[in-house]
Amino acid sequence: MRKLISNGTIVNEGRTFKGNIVIENDRIIEISEHTTPRGTYDECVDATGCFVLPGVIDAHVHFREPGMEEKADIESETRAAAYGGVTSYFEMPNTSPQTTSIEALNDKFQRASRSSHINYSFFFGATNANCELIRHLDVHSVPGVKLFMGSSTGNMLVDRLGVLDEIFATSAAVGLPIMTHCEDSNIINANMKAAKERYGDDPDLTLHHKIRSEEACYRSSALAVDLALKHKTQLHIAHLSTARELELLNVPNAKHYVTLEAVIAHLLFTNDDYTTLGGLIKCNPSIKTLADRTELRKALADGRISTIGTDHAPHLLAQKQGGAAKATSGMPMIQFSLVAILELVDKGVLTIERMVELMAHAPAHRFQVNERGFLRPNYKADIAIVRPNSPWQVTEDIIQSKCKWSPLQGHCFNWKVEHTFCNGVHLLNKDVFNATPRGEKLSFR
Ligand SMILES: [Zn+2]
Repeated sequence: MRKLISNGTIVNEGRTFKGNIVIENDRIIEISEHTTPRGTYDECVDATGCFVLPGVIDAHVHFREPGMEEKADIESETRAAAYGGVTSYFEMPNTSPQTTSIEALNDKFQRASRSSHINYSFFFGATNANCELIRHLDVHSVPGVKLFMGSSTGNMLVDRLGVLDEIFATSAAVGLPIMTHCEDSNIINANMKAAKERYGDDPDLTLHHKIRSEEACYRSSALAVDLALKHKTQLHIAHLSTARELELLNVPNAKHYVTLEAVIAHLLFTNDDYTTLGGLIKCNPSIKTLADRTELRKALADGRISTIGTDHAPHLLAQKQGGAAKATSGMPMIQFSLVAILELVDKGVLTIERMVELMAHAPAHRFQVNERGFLRPNYKADIAIVRPNSPWQVTEDIIQSKCKWSPLQGHCFNWKVEHTFCNGVHLLNKDVFNATPRGEKLSFR
């Protein structure tokens, strides 16, 4: 099967140019800048007026399968992803059972091979008791080890210093990066106790960022950086939420080992948005102040933050009611991440070339993904085609995530994802979705 994407504005590896892409079966075979490739094609997509980007690689999602399929599953959420121009993802281990054994990891790969519309891999979750298993991981199958440092997620809270040392040392020895969720639970627990004494059982949401505080984030992130430098471990700190944590990049040598992720919620919202959006935008780490968001946005542009993920974490709408103690944390986002960041491009926060770097090139580079994340001959044809000046509104019928709500409901976007190709397969064609094909297991160098 030969396919032609013609006349689009291609954004790739820092350059923006008018061109054409030829796909043969699952791969890009030609990118031509000045001439229209001749020949016959099984399918031609006229991308005039559109921007042609590498498919988004989302290194941070929670798809809830197995164990919480009432909230989401791999099929529903990868469909949402394809609608959003996302073609690959790494999923997190806090499912039920947790992905903290080789059996649980293999089970997820099996499930994804049956139902994932796009390309997949899974983080292995470190616990206080499973460090030895890190040595048995196939480093070409998983992106890395996920570590909840002092966050209360079942028994995946790793809080013993000796164990942390062992996990960082072992990951470095096998050559896997560690991705951390950094919040100090002692600080959070003390803050929550004090807030409950003062305000009752379920303190107001506007206190969430004071309970899950800047200090809690900074202390934990600083410890992760210390451990990474001590053991020479590659460390990717997930969902950075405070301006202060950006200072950790100035620790001598940190730049050789430490990279930072920002997620959509912290880039779009501030703690003032609880008045309109309530528990819908409650997440952990908490959404902080306007000053924090401003600095995070600056850090996207200047390179201090190296990847954008979604932390896509659906819950049932009923579970999002309540205050800082009772509303569950997390929100769906994967269907709208690309158009949301394109909106920041329109606002002048970052360039479209930088956006492509943050959402496709850098995740591929950071985690050493083979043959994806770039528009290059012989690479897999994972492509998102987006159209500017094509306004549409987020309404319930558009939402593909199983939970059927979004904090962005009612919002008007100016960019639209018109086409998604995954392994050369035309998954999304305007609003028509091809539900038959399955994604591939990602491989890592
Ligand atoms: Zn997460």
